[in-house]
Amino acid sequence: MADSSSTGGVGAAELGRAVALPGDRAVVPQICACCAADGVRGVLERRGASDVFIPYCDACLLHAASGFTRNLATALSSVLLGVAFSLALPLWSDALPLGWHVTIAVGAASVPVAMRAFLSPRRRPGHTASGRAAFWQFDGTLGCTNATFATALARANSVECHPARVREPRLAVWLFCAPLLAVALAPLGYGLHNPRVRVVNLSAERIALRLEGRTLGTVMPSSAESPAAGAVLRVPAGERTITVVSDERGQVLSEVRVTVVAGAMHLFAPGSDGTCFWLEETLYGRVDSEAPRLEPLTGSERFWVVPDGVDTWFAPNPPADEDGRSSGGSLLAIRQAPCNRAPSATDERAKSRTK
Ligand SMILES: [Zn+2]
Ligand SMILES: [Zn+2]
Repeated sequence: MADSSSTGGVGAAELGRAVALPGDRAVVPQICACCAADGVRGVLERRGASDVFIPYCDACLLHAASGFTRNLATALSSVLLGVAFSLALPLWSDALPLGWHVTIAVGAASVPVAMRAFLSPRRRPGHTASGRAAFWQFDGTLGCTNATFATALARANSVECHPARVREPRLAVWLFCAPLLAVALAPLGYGLHNPRVRVVNLSAERIALRLEGRTLGTVMPSSAESPAAGAVLRVPAGERTITVVSDERGQVLSEVRVTVVAGAMHLFAPGSDGTCFWLEETLYGRVDSEAPRLEPLTGSERFWVVPDGVDTWFAPNPPADEDGRSSGGSLLAIRQAPCNRAPSATDERAKSRTK
């Protein structure tokens, strides 16, 4: 029985022996690869066709088999951090741009992986390894931390054994799933907390929208109803005060207190007095309801949560009697017109509600 501390032990964890094994027909001496005591159980080291069972004593088997558990704990903490940062970062800061949001979430998910890669578990006295004591290396040799085991292994197979720096490959490929998950999840979290607001500018000049001193974006003017009108901006969810300013003159045009709903789509038409907006649902394939259903958008803030799945923005739906639309279903449009030219149903109801 060899005493690892005197005969087989190596000083630094990385300083060991490299053995050029012939492959899966290698003869492995039944001594512990870590402390050179009697080997009682083997741990499989896989490398394609060159699978080899490395023997360990009972005491060393504990640390040799701990790698999978450590990787599992790493993956779990990585997933938890990745999900938490992806979904909850906007609660910490409203003003974080998407790029920073993704970077921080991926960084947080990567911290446990980096710790697993760079922080070694402590090696106990009398042991030559804190994890596995023999493992395949990139150059195809078997890296061994115990010189006694390495020498016996080389002699049994009549191959070379030379001193070398060896490093246990600790990271499994699947540990990188959580940082990748954060790459996909962070934009979803950002979108949920920063819902879209389509802004139409019916004034004669370019406007800028500001939120708590920060410019959300600028919107070019558009007078007539047009599917391309306005701009879609991201606004943090919650009770917000939005300031509308002239982009060239810097003069404040209006200020509204609105509720921005997480995950919803919104329409904002600042300074649009005299213009009416309405939802227009056109039903297809039903004889009894050929006229579109109209629902006016009312309120002095000119800020609305609009239903999911608006099919047409600022244009009429295709006529109900058009061929190919007779199979049924409905389309939803958002329309606008000067109130004196809007359908009477929307105009009158809009007026009565805003009074
Ligand atoms: Zn041992
Ligand atoms: Zn050991």
